Amino acid sequence: MDMIPLVKPYLPPEEKLMDRLKNILYSGYISEGEAVYAFEDELAKLIGNPYCLSVNAGTAALHIALMLIGAGKGDEVISTALTAEPTNTTIALTGAKVVFADVDIHTGLIDPESIESLINEKTKAIMIVHYAGMVCDMDNINLISKKYNVPVIEDAAHAFMSKYNGAFIGNNSAYTCFSFQAIKHLTTIDGGLLCLKNEEEYNRAKKLRWFGLDKKIPRLQNNIIEAGYKYHMNNVNATVGLVQLECLADNVQKYVENGKYYDGALENVQGLSLIPYYNNTEPSYWLYTIKVERRDDFIRKLAENGIAASPLHLRSDRHAVFASRRTLSNLDVFYKAFVHIPCGWWLTKEEREKIVQVIKKGW
Ligand SMILES: *Cc1c(COP(=O)(O)O)cnc(C)c1O
Repeated sequence: MDMIPLVKPYLPPEEKLMDRLKNILYSGYISEGEAVYAFEDELAKLIGNPYCLSVNAGTAALHIALMLIGAGKGDEVISTALTAEPTNTTIALTGAKVVFADVDIHTGLIDPESIESLINEKTKAIMIVHYAGMVCDMDNINLISKKYNVPVIEDAAHAFMSKYNGAFIGNNSAYTCFSFQAIKHLTTIDGGLLCLKNEEEYNRAKKLRWFGLDKKIPRLQNNIIEAGYKYHMNNVNATVGLVQLECLADNVQKYVENGKYYDGALENVQGLSLIPYYNNTEPSYWLYTIKVERRDDFIRKLAENGIAASPLHLRSDRHAVFASRRTLSNLDVFYKAFVHIPCGWWLTKEEREKIVQVIKKGW
């Protein structure tokens, strides 16, 4: 039996994509150029933030954000363990120490009170993750960021087109990082986006994504002041991105429709709790997350019916590289109970109804 998967890359229909792709491949200009700038313009318009900088991976966006902040040896970055690995490996790469805050026991998202209890003079940044597309408690996180003057990096790899205060994520904190990796809401095969809040940091980040060179100045007259990486996006990936943006109704919006369907259809199911959303937030449901009793039985029951279900990510504090011995008692509870069910663009109406029926029969 074919399983209904948890993740699956969306690619636009051949007739929409292949001519555009072929044109750019044989255009003689496949590196960073007009297609990249057009993609950035479209994203800036969609998100509503003019300071949108494309990069070749979400990981690169996180790394540049940390470089802009100046995180390094002797510094601490407060983060969460409930995430994919790059959130925290990028912090480790700068030399800064990852300090894991606990999560809100109800949502699995980083807990503002725990963040505040960990802030000290070494704290360089607060890294938060809109896990599975659910938006963190931004009202309280913003207050803490202001109170202690510590910048927030939003890892929004799962949260493209999620909302806070009615605006798309990418307009709130000093740094917001998106991923366009294969299985994310919108894929450019690989790619990422860094959203900033001012022109100065935007210009510095632009150099950091290309060795430290200034693209506006001829190569022979350039003078690198700060060494950067090779993190820019190329015209081929950007062309895929431009076509993907024409397909939002078939990719991102499908996740949202399916997520809203589950929000209603899975209310009041014995042994299952829905996750509440914070004030002023709207998820974009990259994964649909629930808490269940007897999770192994739940996963087995769904598998028997051809439906994938899984917690998907190993908590980051279990990796030796972070050498964390902090107790995260809320995460311990959440981590035992949470599970994702399929929610993405590939689900048919019949399939999502079948998933709800299987769950309602019990496990
Ligand atoms: C996918 C992902 C990233 C990194 O994205 P890449 O584009 O693969 O580098 C970062 N954080 C989280 C939570 C992710 O899921």
